[in-house]
Amino acid sequence: MKKITLFILAVLFSATAFGWKLADYGDLKFEKMNGNVYVMHGPAEEPSKKNQGFMNNPTVIESKNGLIVVDPGGNYNVGLEILKEIEKVSKKPIIAVFNTHKHGDHWFANVAIAQKYPNIPIYAHPNMIKEVKNGEADKWYGILDRLSGNLKGTKPYKYPTKELKDGQKITIDGEEFVISHPKRAHTDTDILILHTNSQTLFLGDNVMKNRLGGFDESSSVLGNLELLKKLTKETNYKLYIPGHGPSGSKDDTIGPYMRYLQILVDMAKKAYEADEEYYSVKPEAIKKMAEFQKWDAFDHQMGKHLNKAWREIEAKDME
Ligand SMILES: [Zn+2]
Repeated sequence: MKKITLFILAVLFSATAFGWKLADYGDLKFEKMNGNVYVMHGPAEEPSKKNQGFMNNPTVIESKNGLIVVDPGGNYNVGLEILKEIEKVSKKPIIAVFNTHKHGDHWFANVAIAQKYPNIPIYAHPNMIKEVKNGEADKWYGILDRLSGNLKGTKPYKYPTKELKDGQKITIDGEEFVISHPKRAHTDTDILILHTNSQTLFLGDNVMKNRLGGFDESSSVLGNLELLKKLTKETNYKLYIPGHGPSGSKDDTIGPYMRYLQILVDMAKKAYEADEEYYSVKPEAIKKMAEFQKWDAFDHQMGKHLNKAWREIEAKDME
């Protein structure tokens, strides 16, 4: 073969074989995880200049005539990179987007998708749509801009356009999704999405692995733990996709975070019942958390989480 032909072949091959080169995270690309479900696992860490604000798990579901995207990423520029990688999965058009909850690291990249598909339906819980319009988007813009410095092009925001309520079923181009909304878990805006065809459950940030994120005022540590216990008992799907960190089986995905929350709640209860503040049990809690000490942000999140659990236990006791 002539050199020039080999060169062209090499270029063609490399364009599809390699993914998005992001700092020292290697080639980021969508992996086929379960049937027609492809996940691109972001770095499981805080948003930063190095990761450009990309740290969630955008997912593509390939239907007969199109592609359905869950949580496309944390800003416009990341969204453009995700779009390029999506096109390597398939050249079919994107026909719908789901957003799991209100935090900007999951949905700010809607704007990149809508730039190419202006009338795309974007589904989310009504609480999310209300809260992002009432200041939550701006709050997250500030957080992510400060940490990643990569928010250019993200405004005006592309808000979700369609509401999905607890228990709702929706079929898009032959792919069926069942929505559930835990009232208060990671936030009060979460949806869990079951993709029936492939038996995949999208957990949103109700599960994280290898990193800890915040529990804001709309969240409930107790509610989150209760949800994970229920999912462990009552479900058995092929694939579980967390908001951050690797996807996998039920036990591998939900198990670690559930154990983490259980220790928080047990220790906070112990302190509360002994009339002590949360920090009196913090050293003991840390000892029990050997499994999680290497998780990103453990040092500055765990104490806050323990405090939150303690305050929730107190509030429950005052009811
Ligand atoms: Zn979140």
